[in-house]
Amino acid sequence: MAGIYISWPFCAQKCTFCNFASGVQPKELEARYGEALRGEFRQHRWKWIPETLYIGGGTPSSIDGDQLRELLADLPGRPWREATIETAPGSVTPEKIEAWLAAGINRVSLGVQSFIKHELARTGRKHDAAVVEREIALLRKMGISNINVDLIAGLPGQTEASWRESLEAVRRLDPPHVSVYMLEVDEDSRLGSEIILGGKRYGALDTPSDDAMATFYEQAAEALADVGIARYEISNFAKPGYESLHNLKYWQQEAYVGFGADAHSFDGGERWQNVESAKDYVGAWERGDSPAIDRMTPNADEEKFFVGLRLSSGVQVSASDEVRYGRTFERFIELGMMERSADRVRLTERGIMVSNEVFQEFLSA
Ligand code: SF4
Repeated sequence: MAGIYISWPFCAQKCTFCNFASGVQPKELEARYGEALRGEFRQHRWKWIPETLYIGGGTPSSIDGDQLRELLADLPGRPWREATIETAPGSVTPEKIEAWLAAGINRVSLGVQSFIKHELARTGRKHDAAVVEREIALLRKMGISNINVDLIAGLPGQTEASWRESLEAVRRLDPPHVSVYMLEVDEDSRLGSEIILGGKRYGALDTPSDDAMATFYEQAAEALADVGIARYEISNFAKPGYESLHNLKYWQQEAYVGFGADAHSFDGGERWQNVESAKDYVGAWERGDSPAIDRMTPNADEEKFFVGLRLSSGVQVSASDEVRYGRTFERFIELGMMERSADRVRLTERGIMVSNEVFQEFLSA
């Protein structure tokens, strides 16, 4: 069964750690973007009925209720088995929740990142722990209990004590799903550039070391497991039955179609993505051009191996994997980074901590 992804790359601020193609953009662009999206929906030839919907970006919780209802009205598959909207804490209101429910949304992902006010302030976020607590209670009261909380390990100023405080807050709030991301350092975010190139404006000098981040991640896995929220993918943890059906499609090579700027699609054979910026996306639509770029047909076996290795259940080893990666498996098993049972391999806790390096080795095998 397939899924739909919609990108809404408009935000109230540009967070210092964010490396997505999103941010503060002109209001008039937002209106034209909505039109372009609806046009892309109308033009799409559906090969299947989607069972999941994910609206991310960006800050789709900023979309006005009526506008959201209108936007989703043309999409097939309702009622979706899972329909998620990403929200920035501080933007959840009873009116918004009502509109989300009316539009078919049944899961909310809160981009909390941290429960520590001074850590949040340095990223550009304006919420605090009390706001998150209030909004989770409101969501539950109004009938949305399928809630994800995002956390980032590695924010400037984060310490073992403050990280424990954030984990304690998550445990107290008891969401059924938690995503724990390690800070990504690259030139696409202001903080990442500062860490690479030097500077003091965004807190690069206070960024925890790689070792500290690894410890934070391990602590998170332990603290969450302790309350029944188990890891099912490198960055994702859930209570039984609350694993994200939509995101699992990415790792299980099921089809999904992405609409909007920088949205990716996979139809079971071919992959493609849309142009990165909202401005280019709207421009392509208004000129009558396709926003899709970078069409390619990936090697299905290779992909299955790499995406599957992210899952806690691991991946089934085919005869061709055995030929190509056999010696690499042996080496990582010896190093305690992988384990094997019958015809499946998976990363161990130790392997997960260095998963990027492990993937790199397999890529060059
Ligand atoms: S982190 Fe989220 S809210 Fe902040 S700029 Fe990126 S997409 Fe927008």
